[in-house]
Amino acid sequence: MSTSNPVNLLDFDVDGLVAWFAGLGEKPFRARQVMRWMHHEGCADFDAMTDVAKSLRAKLKEIAVVRPPVPVRDSISADGTRKWLLDVGNANAVETVFIPETNRGTLCVSSQAGCALDCAFCSTGKQGFNRNLSAAEIIGQLWLANNLLGAARDQAADLEAGERDNGRIISNVVMMGMGEPLANFDNVVTALRLMLDDHAYGLSRRRVTVSTSGIVPAMDRLRDECPVALAVSLHASNDALRDRLVPINQKYPLRELMAACQRYLERAPRDFVTFEYVMLDGVNDSDTHARELVALVRDVPCKFNLIPFNPFPDSGFLRSPAERIRRFASILIDAGIVTTTRKTRGDDVDAACGQLAGQVQDKTRRTVRLKQEREIRS
Ligand code: SF4
Repeated sequence: MSTSNPVNLLDFDVDGLVAWFAGLGEKPFRARQVMRWMHHEGCADFDAMTDVAKSLRAKLKEIAVVRPPVPVRDSISADGTRKWLLDVGNANAVETVFIPETNRGTLCVSSQAGCALDCAFCSTGKQGFNRNLSAAEIIGQLWLANNLLGAARDQAADLEAGERDNGRIISNVVMMGMGEPLANFDNVVTALRLMLDDHAYGLSRRRVTVSTSGIVPAMDRLRDECPVALAVSLHASNDALRDRLVPINQKYPLRELMAACQRYLERAPRDFVTFEYVMLDGVNDSDTHARELVALVRDVPCKFNLIPFNPFPDSGFLRSPAERIRRFASILIDAGIVTTTRKTRGDDVDAACGQLAGQVQDKTRRTVRLKQEREIRS
């Protein structure tokens, strides 16, 4: 007879599963066997784990499950970008986006339902904070995408052949979906460990990126506990502007953030930080802002990724014109900073960055409130 409250084995990294198996009186190699079935083969059915002892399979069926989040919508854009809307219960939904490119496939993973940080230009921030995702719900996005893209077997073959990263359908993971990953630290780190572990997904640290708005103490913890590639949502060149666009800046201002980036690079798998910078017409996109940025990042080895803003209803911002973005980029490039401008992908399925929450319930009715406030002011 199965228990009414089974343990979801996707919640464990390898050490966690070994410890849980020890509690059942099982050897560590059994945990690693089950780990490989779950993550290499994409298997959720204990009966199908044929090299696991029958008695253990029967025990697991009673007390455990392998339960990823449930997709409620699956959309494919004309450019191949694929977006899943995942039900995480209590009318909460999060999104996972797969972006195929010529030489890599990137999965953009969410870490929270909603977000508390309230960045002024972000549609996820507009819906308020609902809850942290569990480790199972975070790694479950990779599990699910691997299975739905038919990638699980390719990955198992890759790992057996001792290869890394090349030719995999999902070669890169970016924690850039809904939520601030470092505000859900423990669950995100458990999921990161699974992404990196050869018993699970075996991705290179250089191909797993955490994107943060700049929670300085958590950046230091990540450096110590699980350093992966780092992206920072910068979006402003001075504190007055960033206080407004990215309110966490009021707590951790730019000087502290830049120092944290330098500390992070001491242990990072890449020798640069990627600064994300959303281009907002007439707000943060002038030549002066670009020159301010050059001075700001002088001591931080970095690349810039300029993101043309994707307007959403009542955002109050417009996308910078293409010529302005080119001019802004040229100032950074002339100063010797590698700068790219993000291609807008998946527009026709609302999967482009900053639109992740477009179809998700506005929990706090904040969008409506902002609209009312704007009408009152005008
Ligand atoms: S940009 Fe990131 S940190 Fe800011 S509100 Fe949106 S999801 Fe949260």
